[in-house]
Amino acid sequence: MVEKIVSLIKSIDDYVQKAEQDDLTDTVPEFPGLEEVPELVELFEKTIAKLLRRQRKLYLDALKDFIAKDDSETLAAYLVYIQQNLFAVDEFEEQFGEAAAEFLQTTIEKLVEKMMESIDRDVAFEVLSVRAMTWIEEWSRDLARIMQLSTHTAVEKLLTTAIEEGQSIADVEMAMKDLPAFNRNRAGTTAITEVLTASSHAQHESYAQSPAVTGKKWKHSGGKKNNPRENHVALDGTVVGVDELFTIPGSMEICAYPRDPSLPASERVHCHCALGPVVDEEILGLSAEEKRRIRDEALASLVA
Ligand SMILES: [Zn+2]
Repeated sequence: MVEKIVSLIKSIDDYVQKAEQDDLTDTVPEFPGLEEVPELVELFEKTIAKLLRRQRKLYLDALKDFIAKDDSETLAAYLVYIQQNLFAVDEFEEQFGEAAAEFLQTTIEKLVEKMMESIDRDVAFEVLSVRAMTWIEEWSRDLARIMQLSTHTAVEKLLTTAIEEGQSIADVEMAMKDLPAFNRNRAGTTAITEVLTASSHAQHESYAQSPAVTGKKWKHSGGKKNNPRENHVALDGTVVGVDELFTIPGSMEICAYPRDPSLPASERVHCHCALGPVVDEEILGLSAEEKRRIRDEALASLVA
């Protein structure tokens, strides 16, 4: 697990530092609720950016206070102080985890409602499954932890480099203000990746709750604007059962849907793929009562 997190952090940093902004226009395949995505991204980006600014302020204020106490205090002592005190009182992980869980639940509910309505008007969305609620809780917590570790690693690296190079406190203050781990770009990339992840989890959930859906199809937009991954283009049109997994060619990673958190960041960040439902017309033609009974059975089985 630790190894996995370290590699996650490294690849997330690589992606964020590319500093390219995603263009959502014409690069995301059509799905019910897609029109809501830009506004959801903006909303989540603002929340994340605010928490990152608050986090940056914690380190900058501490640097000023720490140095003000005694002229002889050095950057090396500040690094120790950060590691032994500040990391423990840094509330980003907790605050982001709570904000993400709330945002993901609202977003997924909104999208599942639209998706189920577009599949079969007889079976309207009522409630998220226990499986979906568990996923929201676990992924919010894991994502918060990954982001926190990534920030702490970046702050430590900034200081060790500054110490090695004999930089001044003023240099460190400047570098901290500009640290990519705290900037708007990171908030933006995270918001897009996680809103699109929520949309594909919503597809996963709506198919499981819609009796007429028997399979899921991987959809790639084919747009060149977003430098699509060749192995994701190769998956375009691939159909598997609702409960089955896709195998991504090349990396051979497996996932239930695009940007599944079980995938490494290299397969998640900047991925704009989506799913489409495979519908069985015979099941669609059953009575509304019968279909709702099947849905209730499915909900009872979607426990983890
Ligand atoms: Zn993709």
